[in-house]
Amino acid sequence: MNFLKPLIDIILPPRCLGCGKIVETEYSLCADCFQKVSFITKPYCKICGLPFENESEITRHMICPNCLAKKPKTRLNRSAILYNDFAQHLILGFKFSDRTDLRKLFAKWLYLAASDIIKEGVDMIIPVPLSYKRLIKRRYNQAALMAKEFSVFTGIEIDFLNLVKIRHTRPQAILKGNARLKNVKGVYQIKHPHRVKGKRILLIDDVMTTGATLNECTKVLLKAGALSVDTLTLARVKKD
Ligand SMILES: [Zn+2]
Ligand SMILES: [Zn+2]
Repeated sequence: MNFLKPLIDIILPPRCLGCGKIVETEYSLCADCFQKVSFITKPYCKICGLPFENESEITRHMICPNCLAKKPKTRLNRSAILYNDFAQHLILGFKFSDRTDLRKLFAKWLYLAASDIIKEGVDMIIPVPLSYKRLIKRRYNQAALMAKEFSVFTGIEIDFLNLVKIRHTRPQAILKGNARLKNVKGVYQIKHPHRVKGKRILLIDDVMTTGATLNECTKVLLKAGALSVDTLTLARVKKD
């Protein structure tokens, strides 16, 4: 099929996933759109991945005050980009407008953000599930699409069916603080604990806001016998 590629490129040239402008490589962004992406880079807390805002915050162990005060249940947490206006534009398109072509680009960004996690070792990838009701409405789970692509990239096994959301909840985005914790409490379940027992699990989701969903899923996985849980999201909302 490769000999057809130049012809296909003339008829259907690759387009920027952000603005639709013609670009050279498939599944990429043009230079203007790329500039709008805010990648999370070091220095950040080596446990929760929170970027240090200024030098005075950086501790000797590269661990933020929150993680020092109370060690999180999650082994490592990483996000690829900050949730700015442009990230929102891409992610909303991915979530609600069938822009599933974005998954390859997102999986690449996840892979870059996951280097510390991969170094520590991962046995199985699990995407954060949607409720059945939401899955029917949206027809696909955006976290699962990204996670599947990520699994192809890394060769790490993926399990879509074990972690399930047993109750439909209000979207976390419309809630605040404690209401978010309450909203997700007890709504996730492991159907086959033996499949996660003793395993190092990597949970994947699209956006991390307060981390309530990821925390709840982590708790459920550890309770089911997982050896460790890392969490990886495409974008992270920066707290003000
Ligand atoms: Zn563009
Ligand atoms: Zn931290």
